[in-house]
Amino acid sequence: MNYQIAIRTIQDLLNDKKYLTNINMQRKYIYSHEQAKFLLDSIQKKIPIPAIYLWDNDDGTYNVLDGKQRITVMRIYENPNYLGNPINFFIDFMDKSEFYKYEIPVIICSGTEEEKIETFYRINTTAVKLTEFEIMNALYQGVFVEEFGNWGENVSTFEAKLFGSDKRGNNCIKALNLFTNDTRNYFNHNRNVSFVNGLKKQIDKLISDTNQIFAKYNNDLYILSKIILENSNNSSIINSWKLNSSKIVNLFNEYLANGQLSIAPSKESFYKELLNCYETTGLDSKRFFTKDDKILMYKGLRDGESKGKKLCPDCGKEFSFDEFEIDHYKAWSTGGRTSLDNAQLLCKSCNAKKNNK
Ligand SMILES: [Zn+2]
Repeated sequence: MNYQIAIRTIQDLLNDKKYLTNINMQRKYIYSHEQAKFLLDSIQKKIPIPAIYLWDNDDGTYNVLDGKQRITVMRIYENPNYLGNPINFFIDFMDKSEFYKYEIPVIICSGTEEEKIETFYRINTTAVKLTEFEIMNALYQGVFVEEFGNWGENVSTFEAKLFGSDKRGNNCIKALNLFTNDTRNYFNHNRNVSFVNGLKKQIDKLISDTNQIFAKYNNDLYILSKIILENSNNSSIINSWKLNSSKIVNLFNEYLANGQLSIAPSKESFYKELLNCYETTGLDSKRFFTKDDKILMYKGLRDGESKGKKLCPDCGKEFSFDEFEIDHYKAWSTGGRTSLDNAQLLCKSCNAKKNNK
């Protein structure tokens, strides 16, 4: 149902807290000074502003589904200390009663809890861009999202390196996504479960493990924490990584400096391989061949008919340097050494065939 409601009435309803509740259900106030002034300017000039959406809870109370930013501007205008520190928009109404008399279109929706969630979701995914966490915060109010949100606001320096320090809950979502891909379902199921006594303990353990292994490494900690998490049940692996942490970090830096990362198929698999060096004793700590190794091997191949091309030892076709791949003859993971006597240079397709066996 559509109404026109005066700002005075909206303020009264909010002050009363009995009828219009849960103004905090959406994100924090994020309007810029310019956006706020623009809104007040519209009100001053009596230009219509977009409707505010309320949800009728069917018990005499209403929630604000959409319009929190606009309502907050009006609250600040009424009381410059509304958010704790004074904000002055420097807009003066000739007569303040003009401000209070201004009528805002209000759309009141009603239905089941499911419909409420769906309505909120749709309004906020089409018109206003909320972060994933802000949407979860609105949909699944409860102890979980509240405690989780507080955690996200107060992360340590190392946690910020891992998950980012975004104040709008993006770090919470990043942390959660290490444990589940179904964010919405997780929030829904755990809405009344304590974050502090539950998920936080898992996150803390992961942070502690990652910190003990990678305190002195600044690259891609998130990917690394994911690999650590995958192995977190195997304490002998984790302990081996912790014991060798300085060697691991040196190795990582060395490979990074040599540009090895840029030739690896993916960062994740590359890091996994490097960590594996210290997971099992007996494996060669040198995991990858260098470009120099490849050049030496290339020189040893038979020349092709075209200039600068060489013959693949397997299929006998001719290829240029970039089309060859250097690989272990006996696989590194089964104890093969990373040395030229255990190296073979094959064309890409022969190498792929070999790796698929
Ligand atoms: Zn070949």
